[in-house]
Amino acid sequence: MLEYVTRVLARLDIGWRVKLVEPGPGEVRVTVGDDRVSEVVYLALTVPLADAVAAMASQVQDHAIEAYWGRALPACPGHQHPLSPRVVGCGVRWVCPRDPAHHSEALL
Ligand SMILES: [Zn+2]
Repeated sequence: MLEYVTRVLARLDIGWRVKLVEPGPGEVRVTVGDDRVSEVVYLALTVPLADAVAAMASQVQDHAIEAYWGRALPACPGHQHPLSPRVVGCGVRWVCPRDPAHHSEALL
């Protein structure tokens, strides 16, 4: 499961890492960040994996955008907004929120 958090952090490319992992009933609590920032995100164990990963990616992204003063993370190529994590089929993709045909890349 943690590899998915690591993959999201790598895609954001802001130097954040997994700092603490606390398994709990129904979810895994993961603290991410760097020396300056610590934020908690959740990986749900009670929903399909794709849903859990998309929700986690969205939480990580929200924290990252807030920590970086509204920067588009990850940036949609050629657009001003960030890509959105979306469940597509049985996987998860980073897609352009305005036009999925403009950009879509595999997350899971
Ligand atoms: Zn876009």
